[in-house]
Amino acid sequence: MRRTDRPGGGSWAPRTQAVHAGARRSQYGEVAEAIHLTQGFVYSSAEAAEARFVEAGRDEFIYARYGNPTVAAFEDRMAALEGTEDGFATASGMAAVSGALMAMTRAGDHVVAARALFGSCLYVLEEVLTRFGVAVSFVDGTDPEQWRAAIRPGTKAVFLESVSNPTLEVIDLAAVAALAHEAGALVVVDNVFVTPVYSRAVSLGADVVIYSATKHVDGQGRCLGGVILGTREFIRGTIEPYMKHTGGAMSPFNAWVLLNGLTTMELRVRAQAATAQRLAEALEGHPKLARLFFPGLKSHPQHAVSKSQMDGPGTILALDLQGGKDAAFRFLNALQIVLISNNLGDARSIATHPATTTHQRLPAAQKAQLGITEGLVRLSVGLEDADDLLADLMQALDAA
Ligand SMILES: *Cc1c(COP(=O)(O)O)cnc(C)c1O
Repeated sequence: MRRTDRPGGGSWAPRTQAVHAGARRSQYGEVAEAIHLTQGFVYSSAEAAEARFVEAGRDEFIYARYGNPTVAAFEDRMAALEGTEDGFATASGMAAVSGALMAMTRAGDHVVAARALFGSCLYVLEEVLTRFGVAVSFVDGTDPEQWRAAIRPGTKAVFLESVSNPTLEVIDLAAVAALAHEAGALVVVDNVFVTPVYSRAVSLGADVVIYSATKHVDGQGRCLGGVILGTREFIRGTIEPYMKHTGGAMSPFNAWVLLNGLTTMELRVRAQAATAQRLAEALEGHPKLARLFFPGLKSHPQHAVSKSQMDGPGTILALDLQGGKDAAFRFLNALQIVLISNNLGDARSIATHPATTTHQRLPAAQKAQLGITEGLVRLSVGLEDADDLLADLMQALDAA
């Protein structure tokens, strides 16, 4: 399922691909990937320049907004890991989400999206696409009947976060994909919370898979990046023309950082997920918690779906503290190891209060509908020692 015909891909297992796929070596035979920090490329003759503008091969570059060798290595490695034919790297995760949606729709089109989305994804669907005459319907992503009712003949695409931010709802991707494909719609999945390590998105029916590489791919909180993955026809025919002219290209330096991130991603994510599972089990039922969300717990409403479509539980928990915002803030301010910030997937554990930060701009009614209460804290579990983290969380809960 994760096979690839990209250079260096073959049929290696994901861990091998994460280290080697897509690598390009210069005439010097360097071991570590080179950073091709160049915006342009020299042609051997005027005729060669002309020919390249007519048609450029995968390793013939024109301008770094269109493509660059280090960026191409990152694209090929991500495509190999996800099992798609091709990929286009972008400046950030949001450049990938907005680029994919803008490239594939036009006025008069209809898109159906799950309601529980990252704040900026919601903005692109609600405020940007609609400004250009695309109709967008929102549904409760966990209810197949709502998808069935909203998807109509001619629906261009469905968009969903397979595991939602921040309340960790898990959407039955195969069920939604079946409904979408029946209507001829493409399935676009923002798969950040699942991570490339646990993803089976393509075999479950996703046509387009999007990652913010800022999260687990970097894994060390250094740089922004994103990627759109799909068939060669879709990436080169639909995505590339839009992206190369609108300017959301990934920096070659960031591609190099992210390539290095990929080599250790599998080890990091599995270690972080094991700690997250341990913390979730230890914290479940804590008297200071009204609710605890983690797909790896049997009590999670979509635990079965999660098990069937993810190879692991993920690295994010959500805690809903009794006592609302005051209790959540006391908890956050008491943390000694866990940082208060809003990234996720980092080697450092990070806690976020969505209601006042990432989802602040949403009206109260919409927050309530999404389960973003005043007591909700999203916890991205890092690589620290599990006992140390548990002790930190326990003392902070006492303080709450
Ligand atoms: C972070 C995130 C994004 C946006 O990624 P950036 O790299 O910050 O632009 C999109 N979707 C989800 C689910 C995210 O977590």
